[in-house]
Amino acid sequence: MNMETRSTCPYCGVGCGVIIEHDATQITGVRGDPDHPANFGRLCTKGSTLHLTATPVVMQTRRLLRPARQGLPISWHEANTEIAAKLQAIKNAHGPDSIGFYISGQLLTEDYHAFNKLARAVIGTNNIDSNSRLCMSSAVVGYKQSLGADAPPCSYEDIERADCVFIIGANPAWAHPILFRRLEDAKARRPEMKIIVVDPRRTESAEFADLHLQIQPGTDVALLHGMLHAMIWEGWVDTAFIATHTEGFATLKQLVRDMPPREAARICGVSEEQILQAAQCFATSPATLSLYCMGMNQSSSGTAKNTALINLHLAAAQIGRPGAGPFSLTGQPNAMGGREAGGMASLLPGHRDPADAAHRSEIARLWGMADDSALPETPGKTAIELFQAAERGEVKALWIVCTNPAQSLPEQALVRRALERCELVIVQEAFAGTATAAFAHYLLPAATWGEKEGTVTNSERRISRVRTAVPPPGEARADWRIAADIARAMGMPLGADTPEQLWLEHREATRGRDLDITGLSYALLDERGPQQWPFVDGQGTERLYADHRFATADGRARFVAKPFKPPLDTADARRPWSLTTTRLRDQWHGMSRSGVVPRLFGHEGTPALSLNPQDMARRGLAEGDYVRITSARGALVLRLRGDAAIASMQASVPMHWGGEFVGGAGGINALTQPGFCPDAKQPELKFTAVSLEKL
Ligand code: SF4
Repeated sequence: MNMETRSTCPYCGVGCGVIIEHDATQITGVRGDPDHPANFGRLCTKGSTLHLTATPVVMQTRRLLRPARQGLPISWHEANTEIAAKLQAIKNAHGPDSIGFYISGQLLTEDYHAFNKLARAVIGTNNIDSNSRLCMSSAVVGYKQSLGADAPPCSYEDIERADCVFIIGANPAWAHPILFRRLEDAKARRPEMKIIVVDPRRTESAEFADLHLQIQPGTDVALLHGMLHAMIWEGWVDTAFIATHTEGFATLKQLVRDMPPREAARICGVSEEQILQAAQCFATSPATLSLYCMGMNQSSSGTAKNTALINLHLAAAQIGRPGAGPFSLTGQPNAMGGREAGGMASLLPGHRDPADAAHRSEIARLWGMADDSALPETPGKTAIELFQAAERGEVKALWIVCTNPAQSLPEQALVRRALERCELVIVQEAFAGTATAAFAHYLLPAATWGEKEGTVTNSERRISRVRTAVPPPGEARADWRIAADIARAMGMPLGADTPEQLWLEHREATRGRDLDITGLSYALLDERGPQQWPFVDGQGTERLYADHRFATADGRARFVAKPFKPPLDTADARRPWSLTTTRLRDQWHGMSRSGVVPRLFGHEGTPALSLNPQDMARRGLAEGDYVRITSARGALVLRLRGDAAIASMQASVPMHWGGEFVGGAGGINALTQPGFCPDAKQPELKFTAVSLEKL
């Protein structure tokens, strides 16, 4: 019997709608959903091969099928009882903050809600952070500091409405392919549309641009301040908008006075003329949209970069209008939903703040806790801090859900020492063989795409349903249910026993908040399709701040004045190369899902270090040579390839492969920098100083 189920792609934050073809026992095909407003039926190579991640062979050979203790199968009853007892014992002996949760932007909003309740209400700790910390936390803090709320103001439709598209620190041609198709279509329809790309590499997105500013890595803030300097002194800013709707311009003007385009050009390694051109196009186009991603976020200056970009939008009044605004492209499929549900150490549900006693009381009441001061006050540890604390022996138990920190976190040597030192490591995963699974005391099999029910929110604040087509293989269970069962085994049931019940609790936490979705329901999403928050008066909201009233207490946006600071690593005589990590078109994160599809290796089959061919020739290096790459934190060996897209003295490596392929524990993250942005706590994965030695 052929059946079809509408759902959402589990890979990137574009959030494309998919139609799963199946026979109720097995997924047989997938195609784009023509009615989904994110993709209108299109899918990229990853999305269009999703059914190949669910073949019978994959189910038998690559999926986790039953719970295991120290590698040996046990029953769910044994797993739940033992884990609950061990967590309780660790809590009793060392306090609730000796337990930490490291969860994932791959989880559904309902899963996030369940784990958030388990951590904060049952265990009593704010130590719950997500791998979104590696992805979007700089964008979160940038939005909050500048506009008052973690709310991307734009819609995908703005791509079609913009006159100038300013892409910085992103390669959407590969990382957000379906959005890039929309951009290509818009440019074909309106060739006068200007596209500017800022990127140290000449990526496919840069090739497509009218203007490519090939800046030195890590110099974005200097560039953006230089552009603002030009806008101010050329008279391209909107003084009436600044006076009426913003605060803090005088301080920022003073700061960027010291960053004239000539100085910015010197720091960034581009021409003064290019900076002036970009500034004029940004400020004077009828509508300017900026698109940005990991190059802006994965930085020790992540918040400074994000706020410097939003400063440009505010100064030129390029916000709150069709085709205009700062638009962060979410990396993961539900990093947004996780933020809404408060599933990070620095957040509470409904965009609340765990440091705010009134917010904690509101959530305690919503969660039905007898004591409305019961939620923990101690600040939670963010991702890097959590593993550093585990390495020091302060965090004794780590519960890792749907993510692979033994590959994806920086400074892998420390991460692995942390996992080895923990008394209890619980790893909850759908796919077998991840690097982190090797450290698990308990390995719990999770259901995944096509097998579970819930919702996700994409980059444009659009909530889509994720639906079950087939049952999970073996004894795998939905992530939310695994959390709920342990809570029950600890004597504190979560009080919601279906995805919809969990979602309704989450929905209630948004009442009266900037992301209010109390008008939405599963039934309405089923009937009318995906909707954007806030959902008020029976309608989603396409664009925020159309009335130029921002989410701050006084309704005025803030100019944020943060100076340019270089990256934490310094490329010097000892380690002269600037290494960055990149994404491939056809792979996803640590490849636990995309890696089971042989076809996806047709684009790039093995990892390699890319260098500029002229740099290679000058050093007597040839394509296929092997080099040892050494940073202050570790070393590994990789094959070389020449790539003219890479500037001189820079190097790049795809982030997808783990240690088993590249001869260093933890893959490329054996080398990367754990230092982070002081505001966003997002580590600097995009800049590592390295030396190279031919083998
Ligand atoms: Fe999936 Fe992203 Fe590709 Fe859309 S663009 S099909 S969401 S990976």
